[in-house]
Amino acid sequence: MSAPYVFNIQRFSMHDGPGLRTTIFFKGCPLDCPWCHNPEAKLFEPELMVTEGEKKLVGRQYTVEELVSEVLSDVMFYDHSGGGVTLSGGEVMAQNRTFLLELARQLKAKGISLGVDTCGVAAQTGFSQLAKYVDFWLYDLKFISSEDHKKWTGAANDLVLKNLEFLNSLRAKIYLRMILLEGLNTSADVIEETMLWLKTHSIELVEVDLLPYHRLGQNKFAGLGLEPQTFTTPSEETLRRVKEQVLRYYPMVRVGG
Ligand code: SF4
Repeated sequence: MSAPYVFNIQRFSMHDGPGLRTTIFFKGCPLDCPWCHNPEAKLFEPELMVTEGEKKLVGRQYTVEELVSEVLSDVMFYDHSGGGVTLSGGEVMAQNRTFLLELARQLKAKGISLGVDTCGVAAQTGFSQLAKYVDFWLYDLKFISSEDHKKWTGAANDLVLKNLEFLNSLRAKIYLRMILLEGLNTSADVIEETMLWLKTHSIELVEVDLLPYHRLGQNKFAGLGLEPQTFTTPSEETLRRVKEQVLRYYPMVRVGG
């Protein structure tokens, strides 16, 4: 089995699900969002990136056993905080499935809570096979309009919506994550349309996380020799209004991950 490339293992993360978590970031994504905070996660292969004036190779392979042993060193913190491990990226569901299933199986066998962050663009079979090991999903919904989804990320949103419905049918715990880009997906109409779609499809959510766009990933674009594109961070007023709109449909809404 060819192991995926990992570009970061973040310990003590507080933004990738409940409690203190170790987040494993896999390299490679089927989408190409121009606001990506981790542009070094887009390609599936290792690549050179300049960070603080130094050229470094980003991405290395681990065996399942190496990853499990790495995350087990913080098991005490998981137990005390109700945390665990979150798989992120890039796109987790686009990685080698045999590897993912084995990693998830071993983590569950150790009793570790497991979360998966996904953009939803992947075959349903992967979700169906992994779901039995996954305690919760951090599920991105970037654009309810398939046309806008395609325009900005490179792919339509049919799979995103289908897989969301599928996970919902399994009664999976879903945290819906909505990146907010002022003027692109924050209008009252767009938010209303999104909420109506969710309610019409009886999507149950643990929480809606509103993620205001920020520019932290821009230096990384430059470090990869790419031209960063700048978007507008939503104003306080927009955030307040979006939050109020979402609260009419879902009682748990958080600004930030
Ligand atoms: S889905 Fe996430 S990781 Fe992939 S390009 Fe978009 S923002 Fe980056």
